[in-house]
Parts: sequence; C-alpha cells; structure tokens
Amino acid sequence: MRTETYLPPGLPIPVPESDGLSKPYWSGLQDNRLQVQRCGACGTWQFGPEWLCHRCHRFDPDWVEVAPRGRIYSWERVWHPVHPCLKGAGPYLVVLVELPQAGGVRMLGNLLGDPMQEVVIGAEVEGVFEHHPQAEPPYTLMQWRCVA
Ligand SMILES: [Zn+2]
Repeated sequence: MRTETYLPPGLPIPVPESDGLSKPYWSGLQDNRLQVQRCGACGTWQFGPEWLCHRCHRFDPDWVEVAPRGRIYSWERVWHPVHPCLKGAGPYLVVLVELPQAGGVRMLGNLLGDPMQEVVIGAEVEGVFEHHPQAEPPYTLMQWRCVA
C-alpha cells in the first residue's frame, strides 16, 4: 500500500508550544525551509529552540535557514509500537541527523525508504518536507533520505 506519509495517520499532530518558541521552525517547514537558531551576538548554533543562547545567554537567538543536508549521527530501527496507531506499522527507522553546516546541531526524524535498509553512521542524508495540508492544523515534518 502506497501512502503519502512515512507513518500511518493517527499520530498526535505536532504543534508549536503555546508560548510560540518553536513556531519559526514549524512554519518554516510548511514553506520548505529548514530553520535553526543562531545567536546574533556570538554566532552559536542551537537546536531545539531556546529563549536564550546556551553560550553567551543573550535572549532571542535568530532563526537562520540552513540547507536540509546532514549526516546520520545515530539511528534506531523501531520494532515495538510506541502509539496505538503504529501497531503493525513497524519496523520503521528513526535517525538523529547532524548538520555540519549549522555548527553540528542534531535533530530527529525518520529515514525514508526500505525500513530494512542498511543504515551507516556518518552517511549523507537530505531532508524531505513531508506536508500534511489536510490535517487540522496543517503541519509539515522534516524527514530524511540517504543521498545516492
Ligand atoms: Zn550567544
């Protein structure tokens, strides 16, 4: 069965926190832009979002668009459902992707393709914007696939 999404429908919809901290990340994804934080004072990159810079403690780090390219820092093949809708959906692949062009920040996602594929630490991956325009509210996930 072919679906437009990597995992079956029914998972909780990711939304920004009520204080809006991660809103630039989520709204950027909807526009096919991957954004992470970078401090305007000291240049430190960071992800996930924080109200202040980890290094110099300046408030309101900038949001900067970065190329959705990275390398696999770690990964896991998930066999056991962690949500009722995932029963029968496994195995699937979760990757921790490092972005060398953004200070080495890391972010989680799924590795697209065969869930039984060989996964290599350090392998190059590129981001895929997985849009869910029919959801309420609409959202987009950052997924990953190996670069051939
Ligand atoms: Zn700083």
